[in-house]
Amino acid sequence: MTSKIIVIGAGVIGAASALSLQADGHQVTLLEREAPCAGASFGNAGAIVNGSCVPTAMPGILYDVIRMSVQPLPPLSIRPAYFHKILPWLLRFIWQSRSVAASNNAAHLHTLTKHAVDAWHQLVDDTALAPLVEEAGWLKVYEKAASFADTAKARKLMDEAGTSYEVLGRREISDLEPNLAPIFNFGFYQKDCLRLVNPHKLVNSMVDLMVSRGGQFKQFDVERIQHEGKQVSLSGSAGSITADKVIVAAGAWSRSLAEQLGDSVPLDTERGYHLMLPESTRDLLNAPVVNGESSFVLSPMETGMRLSSQIEFGGLVAAPDYSRVRSLLPLAKRMLPTLDTREQSAWMGFRPSLPDSLPVVGFSTNSKNVLYAFGHQHLGMTMGAVTGKLVADLIAGADPIVDMAPFRPNRF
Ligand SMILES: Cc1cc2nc3c(=O)[nH]c(=O)nc-3n(C[C@H](O)[C@H](O)[C@H](O)COP(=O)(O)OP(=O)(O)OC[C@H]3O[C@@H](n4cnc5c(N)ncnc54)[C@H](O)[C@@H]3O)c2cc1C
Repeated sequence: MTSKIIVIGAGVIGAASALSLQADGHQVTLLEREAPCAGASFGNAGAIVNGSCVPTAMPGILYDVIRMSVQPLPPLSIRPAYFHKILPWLLRFIWQSRSVAASNNAAHLHTLTKHAVDAWHQLVDDTALAPLVEEAGWLKVYEKAASFADTAKARKLMDEAGTSYEVLGRREISDLEPNLAPIFNFGFYQKDCLRLVNPHKLVNSMVDLMVSRGGQFKQFDVERIQHEGKQVSLSGSAGSITADKVIVAAGAWSRSLAEQLGDSVPLDTERGYHLMLPESTRDLLNAPVVNGESSFVLSPMETGMRLSSQIEFGGLVAAPDYSRVRSLLPLAKRMLPTLDTREQSAWMGFRPSLPDSLPVVGFSTNSKNVLYAFGHQHLGMTMGAVTGKLVADLIAGADPIVDMAPFRPNRF
């Protein structure tokens, strides 16, 4: 049956959901308080990592956090003024780092991410979006044997989940990426992945495609959401609007909307940063490369090389602090000696994250007319297309390809 459906949030999750719902024949309106792709989907590393399954809360994370807190420029930091606010989230996060919880979370994540590449192909092939998504591997490199040995826990989880990867030595790393300095002795490589040559252009083009197929895009900051009989009503910056069904895909800002419907979801944000380097640097790598020791990614994009990094717990309001990501430039140069490190632009984005690293994809506990699709943490680009498909299946009442129980909003 055709419904009038509103999707809140024009990031990758909202745009993919809108396209999949439209493909099922629904009349779709996408609401966004800014321009399309104004959130985390704008500035990520652009990697679609098929089968990615390692949660952020891994055994030993508490020790890692304490160790990092004494480093001068650690990859993970907590703004002191936000500490009391993030504490309940952190306690849940530490609880999720027990071996058994981490294994379960990895297995659940894998049920989604193993469909990532196929789902993206289904969404973009034979459309104008196809050139923005390229086949590429996902390579992590390490200089020291001890650092590579530290990845054993992550590799064990990948083995258990069935994520395939290859362990590489110096020669194979250099065959894949000849411009890397010959300092990396260990690598692991996931072959069948994708890369986005311009995530911002991709999400914008997804919205354009939806509009060209008869959907609507409206600039609308949703402030209130409530059920009204069989309808859902929204009000905010552009008045009020009603729909048969509403999808909440507002990324890191989804928590307060869910709260209005009686769902208390421990969603917070892991802030991340990027720097763009000159366009001339874009061909120095064939695909994104992770510096495993210093926790940053260099991604070749059509606009230049993107250096992305950092997990910062600081909430949605505090101003960015670019000092940590800037401090990585000498390390990026050491990694890629011909890199022109003149900064072209700097950006901060808000990864929407739950303590178990799993997204929320499921109906509100109080309304079968409101469906949540948020909390995709470090893997929203990877899981964007598959989430769109799941959203459409849930709205259709069809059996999704994945067991949805681990992603329900009231699991905590
Ligand atoms: C540095 C960095 C690197 C990353 N690298 C990768 C990567 O390589 N691969 C990967 O898979 N993932 C990566 N990610 C994660 C990925 O970017 C996110 O998981 C994903 O973009 C989340 O998408 P989203 O649509 O849920 O949220 P967003 O993109 O944030 O979109 C939410 C949208 O909702 C809008 N909105 C919010 N509230 C309202 C409201 N009340 N009314 C109307 N509109 C509203 C916002 O303006 C925003 O546009 C990275 C993230 C960062 C920060």
